[in-house]
Amino acid sequence: MSKEKLNIVKVGGAIVEKEESLLPLLKSFSSLSGNKILVHGGGKIATAIAAQLGVETQMINGRRVTSAEMLKVVTMVYGGLVNKNLVARLQSMGVNAIGLSGADMNIIRSDKRPVEPIDFGFVGDVKEVNAKALSDIIGSGAVPVLAPLTHDGKGTMLNTNGDTIAATVAKALSSEYDVTLSYCSSTPGVMKDLDDPDSLIKTITSSDFRNLVADGTISEGMIPKLENAFEAIGSGVSRVVITSASDIDGGTTIMADPE
Ligand code: ADP
Repeated sequence: MSKEKLNIVKVGGAIVEKEESLLPLLKSFSSLSGNKILVHGGGKIATAIAAQLGVETQMINGRRVTSAEMLKVVTMVYGGLVNKNLVARLQSMGVNAIGLSGADMNIIRSDKRPVEPIDFGFVGDVKEVNAKALSDIIGSGAVPVLAPLTHDGKGTMLNTNGDTIAATVAKALSSEYDVTLSYCSSTPGVMKDLDDPDSLIKTITSSDFRNLVADGTISEGMIPKLENAFEAIGSGVSRVVITSASDIDGGTTIMADPE
């Protein structure tokens, strides 16, 4: 028997924060038929609310350090404000969304990242995905909306990269479903030249990726995003694309290495 299809869409924090990009994303997501999961990122809103609360944002190499105080803010903002607004918007479009963090139904358990070589604070590296709980929810006809938060199983929430959550959930569900994973970001896909919207790279192999990082074409957040994408395509996920908010099916297709 062939597997049922499942679409997993990861939406970046920058898209969620802007109505002009959020609305097209929600429209395309709501029109996807069949099984689906939305994973969202965090974004700058946590930084803004932390400032209002007098909590300082500390960055190392462009990455957020999650102090005990910042963990409270990201739990409130990602797990509350951002997640529940997405659920309410999807419900208004007829999608039976249910907002979840990794602690809910033990969906994603993680380990706190070691403090060496850099102490990023309360950040979790995914250890285990509860595929059964997710497939039960999907099977009931609901649409999970996953926040970039996990738990350590000992009572502590951990801040976790949304791209990694999307890839690990996709991998975990690929034994039961035929999974398409779409990373929706603010560019049309992986670009040869970020200033030229016509320079989309339609397909990318892992050796193209290494070359494009080496020559500086691919940088910043696109590097870990593509590492997650290649990890997913190499671990049973059927299709992985990097695309824009308004074009869930388009963008750059990640090519698996030949067997
Ligand atoms: P997200 O929108 O999911 O938060 P990130 O901001 O982490 O994603 O990563 C996407 C960003 O990577 C793009 O907005 C862009 O600034 C940057 N980037 C670097 N190199 C490239 C490239 N060659 N093509 C597309 N984006 C790139």
